[in-house]
Amino acid sequence: MALFTDKIAVVTGGSRGIGKGIALELGKQGATVIVNYQKSMDAAVAVVEEITATGGKALAVQADVSVEEDANRLIKTAVDTYGKLDILINNAGTTRDNVIMLMGAEDFDAVIQTNLRSTWLCSKAAVRTMMRKRYGRIVNITSISGIMGNAGQTNYSASKAGIIGLTKSLAREVASRGITVNAVAPGFVLTDLTSSLPEDMLKKLNENIPLGRWGTIEDVAAATSFLASDAAAYITGHILTVDGGLAM
Ligand code: NAP
Repeated sequence: MALFTDKIAVVTGGSRGIGKGIALELGKQGATVIVNYQKSMDAAVAVVEEITATGGKALAVQADVSVEEDANRLIKTAVDTYGKLDILINNAGTTRDNVIMLMGAEDFDAVIQTNLRSTWLCSKAAVRTMMRKRYGRIVNITSISGIMGNAGQTNYSASKAGIIGLTKSLAREVASRGITVNAVAPGFVLTDLTSSLPEDMLKKLNENIPLGRWGTIEDVAAATSFLASDAAAYITGHILTVDGGLAM
């Protein structure tokens, strides 16, 4: 039997990059996947089509998950359509990098809202319905920037460190209700988010990674799928780095 047979999953930011990889992996393992997107409707529909082409079930739902009404509507759509929500992957994220002297307060606020506020909003909405079923798996996508820090990312690192605190606090709050809350902290993974980094910087970054390469979307999707599965039933409040050893 597939890992996620009869499981309903929401993946925020499932249209591109890591979120797309996670949506495809959960779909492949039998989950019904709600593929959330903000702007990339065609890309989200393509992810849904890829899942349904192999016999899976999926639905694309537009929502800006940093907006409370949208986050609530996203979770409600999953519950109204499929009767429950088992798995929430808080993946949607963005960057607005700059050194602090050149970073505007609006760049700080935007990144906190998209990365941290969205995780809190979607988790709050999901926990309400998961508590009733006494079952849930929440996996938040943080970053090693939230653990190690990264020059030029005071806003992003703060949002990702915030997600780590949120993960541990919520894990303690809901453990008695059969809900686990964990996080995956990727290192460097080539996606639209990182594609603008200059070639020489990419090379230099590689030198510091013990496993000698960047991570792949599949590396992150596999770790996320594990934490969302029943094989991880006794793991909660854990931050799993998927970084080739960079942050150890
Ligand atoms: P990406 O390729 O830029 O994709 C970002 C995704 O987030 C897109 O699907 C986008 O939707 C969605 N999104 C952004 N803002 C949203 C909002 N307000 N509401 C709903 N969806 C929104 O980024 P990625 O590299 O895959 O990153 C995914 C996650 O992994 C992020 O949390 C990121 O911080 C984290 N991460 C990435 C790396 C890396 O090296 N790439 C490393 C560590 C952590 P649209 O397509 O509709 O715009």
